[in-house]
Amino acid sequence: MPPLQPEKCSVCSGATRVVEPAYSECMECDVLISRTSAAVYDEDYYYFKAHARSREARERAQILWRYFSRYIDSCTCLDFGCNDGSFVEVATCHGARCEGTDVNERALALAKAGGGGSFWSPQDLVGRKFQCVTAFDVIEHFDIVDEFFERVDGYLEDNGRLIITTPNKNSKWRKIYRGGWHGFGIPQYHRFIMSERCLCEQLQSRGFLIEELFTTKPLETRGWKLLVASGYRLKNGVTAKIAILPIAVAKFIVGSILVGGEEDTLCVVARKTQGRRH
Ligand SMILES: [Zn+2]
Repeated sequence: MPPLQPEKCSVCSGATRVVEPAYSECMECDVLISRTSAAVYDEDYYYFKAHARSREARERAQILWRYFSRYIDSCTCLDFGCNDGSFVEVATCHGARCEGTDVNERALALAKAGGGGSFWSPQDLVGRKFQCVTAFDVIEHFDIVDEFFERVDGYLEDNGRLIITTPNKNSKWRKIYRGGWHGFGIPQYHRFIMSERCLCEQLQSRGFLIEELFTTKPLETRGWKLLVASGYRLKNGVTAKIAILPIAVAKFIVGSILVGGEEDTLCVVARKTQGRRH
């Protein structure tokens, strides 16, 4: 199927222009929109297949806990898009009242089987409210951004906190690795890639107050591998990839030491207020 050319931005309805084979850029709200068809979330979901119940998944959950535990450890929390339940498990081990939900039934079954916390299908959570909702690398999987906010808003108590992580459109690594940047690798799952400005505008227009905002490296203990792979991802064949590896590594070293700017992952903590603007 040839790439689609969205005429309008799915976030703000603004005009778009093609900037990458798989993404168009909105000229209004600073977001990249996928030009490919959406995939479904079943046992073939790439992240589930590669990482479910793995050491990497647990280490990622521990990184997230270190970043956000101060917002979570004293309140009720729902991990929205919990995947294999690793974050809920880590939070529960630290004494937090954290539960999880996911649309991927295989992932949810695995999370429940792990026994590390409480996990629910979305239909089992109707009417439940939480003091905090975490959505780690989830918002970019929605075709319609309004649907993401409707879902999380339904789970949030008034004055509750929403914690979001998502790939950063304006990462310095995108500028360094250009079209090879790993963020462009899964347009069938990552339906849009937001900038700091776009995400903040989306939150503020819905009455959320931004409490903390920062960018960080990929949320993995070996995130450097992901970045180096950006340097050879588009080359065909092992020989071609090995030939360009020194340049990929050199770009990573230069990018780490000499290049300033935003990192790969946007992290936002926002509080739900009564001041809705629409
Ligand atoms: Zn837009």
